[in-house]
Amino acid sequence: MLAALSAAKCLKAFDHDGSVLVLERNRVLGRKLAITGKGRANLTNARSVDEFVQAFGPSGRFLYPSFESFFSDDLVALFAEAGLQLKTERGGRVFPVTDKAQDVVQALGLLLVREGVSVLYSARVKSINARSGDWTIGLESRGFVHCRAVVMATGGKSYPGTGSTGDGYGLLEHLGHHPCRLLPGLVPLHCAEKWLSELAGTSLEGVAVEAWVGPHLLDRRQGEVMITDRGIGGPAVLSLSLAVAPALADGQTVILYIDLRPGRTSDQELHEIEACGNADEILVHVSRFLPKRMALELMRVWGIEGKGRIPLPQKTLAAVARSVKGVKLRCTGAEPLASAVITQGGISLREVDPRSMGSKLAPGLFIAGELLDLQAITGGYNLQAAFSTGFLAGRCAAEYVAKSANDSKL
Ligand SMILES: Cc1cc2nc3c(=O)[nH]c(=O)nc-3n(C[C@H](O)[C@H](O)[C@H](O)COP(=O)(O)OP(=O)(O)OC[C@H]3O[C@@H](n4cnc5c(N)ncnc54)[C@H](O)[C@@H]3O)c2cc1C
Repeated sequence: MLAALSAAKCLKAFDHDGSVLVLERNRVLGRKLAITGKGRANLTNARSVDEFVQAFGPSGRFLYPSFESFFSDDLVALFAEAGLQLKTERGGRVFPVTDKAQDVVQALGLLLVREGVSVLYSARVKSINARSGDWTIGLESRGFVHCRAVVMATGGKSYPGTGSTGDGYGLLEHLGHHPCRLLPGLVPLHCAEKWLSELAGTSLEGVAVEAWVGPHLLDRRQGEVMITDRGIGGPAVLSLSLAVAPALADGQTVILYIDLRPGRTSDQELHEIEACGNADEILVHVSRFLPKRMALELMRVWGIEGKGRIPLPQKTLAAVARSVKGVKLRCTGAEPLASAVITQGGISLREVDPRSMGSKLAPGLFIAGELLDLQAITGGYNLQAAFSTGFLAGRCAAEYVAKSANDSKL
């Protein structure tokens, strides 16, 4: 939608009489956008460009030109044009003031109408071919559309019910592009420990979670961890899954550790547990920073349930302190791609020019959004990247059309 908007604005600025058409396979726009942020749409983040780039890991640098052309302040201004105000919450997360993702979709729809962009609904793209500088797009049961430039923004492969079924990867592969391995991103993780299911629904605030493969730390995230039926989830774990899912896919054994008191050193914790000395006191101690259910379950896991005020051996006290600083969990898997928040992997960034989002393999083709091999932690970064790359792609597609029209006049 952002690609279409910026293309239309740009064509107008060039006084070009070309038109912009959105091809959408659904009967409505923005079905995925409408369910983001638990229905509230965490649209972007108040953090700096550098922090955004960091949120995407090593490939984040690819996004500098996109963020330069359209960043969070531009997004705020754009929605203001449509009468939708945004607000910033904890962690810099930006939402619409109405807390309704559907209002975001409506605002974008309104802007498309204002810019004179047409939308063809129930128009699933099945083929895309270039011939002598023009593009022919084949639609399922609806014939063909011809155009001068194309922006592909068909999204990833998660939540296929929203329309993002991964069609774009195949269409681009046909044009010579290479999708990098597709994996679930921002997903809960499964663990072998059966006792976790007893605690399903328990939330641990302000803890840290680490993922290890042998002696190598894959990643560490701090924040909220939610215990689920099959393991652990919550924002910190979803972000951690970006590192864990590839390791699991490679067949590596991943061990997770939850640090229940990241603000204390191991020595400080050992000291406090030693001062407790017995099970009753340890229960009082851990109940200060853990939900009661979790504290009681851990007493069982540590093998000290019902030991009352009997002094515990030093070895047991040390083991309890170690566990507070790192409850060990064996990771057995991740939720599947279909129920992932994002798709990890996608069209290789080496095949796309970051300054225009233009394909390096097919002139007149531009690629934007989750279709690309870009993935960030939670916090509104993924939507902003989709908006920014879409905006840049749309503008450069319009420039390409205007330039090729001028060239043909010469
Ligand atoms: C439950 C959930 C919650 C999320 N919450 C957040 C959040 O709060 N903040 C955040 O930053 N990110 C969030 N995300 C991630 C974010 O939604 C995506 O990264 C973003 O929507 C990607 O945008 P996109 O335009 O690239 O693709 P999409 O939003 O997936 O849009 C692609 C569009 O292309 C259409 N399409 C696909 N194939 C074809 C075809 N062959 N022909 C025609 N049309 C086609 C689809 O119908 C769809 O409308 C969430 C994702 C999910 C699943």
